[in-house]
Amino acid sequence: MSTARNYSKKREAVLAAVRSTKCHPGARWIYEQVKPKLPDISLGTVYRNIKVCREEGLLASVGVVNNEERFDGIVEPHQHAICTKCGSIMDVEGVAPSGQPSLSGFAVDNRRTVFYGICAKCGGQEKNWLKKFKGFGHLAGRFGKN
Ligand SMILES: [Zn+2]
Ligand SMILES: [Zn+2]
Repeated sequence: MSTARNYSKKREAVLAAVRSTKCHPGARWIYEQVKPKLPDISLGTVYRNIKVCREEGLLASVGVVNNEERFDGIVEPHQHAICTKCGSIMDVEGVAPSGQPSLSGFAVDNRRTVFYGICAKCGGQEKNWLKKFKGFGHLAGRFGKN
């Protein structure tokens, strides 16, 4: 196999790994997925391939969560919710995009809205429920401080 073909095979594998999940993985996660199929791949190669895919607009960066940059196979602009407890990143649908920023002469190319909070798995639902009953302080207190 030629070097070029081997190179594109690795890139395809990196891209496929990111597109196979909704978890918005980091490079290490991608590496773990690709390694069994391509045992000679290194973490450095994964990083390089991510960079190339990003330059070609095939992958998007979601940002750094818990000191790790996370990536998205969906490159169309969309919004994210990030759990500050476990670092999970979820796609958000059905939120009306906000209007133009009030900066004269500023042309918007892209917009990124990120919601930070606690996911359902980490007890976010419970927290929402408690918020509803804020008026009943004594009752909320029984369920622990949040
Ligand atoms: Zn969580
Ligand atoms: Zn996303």
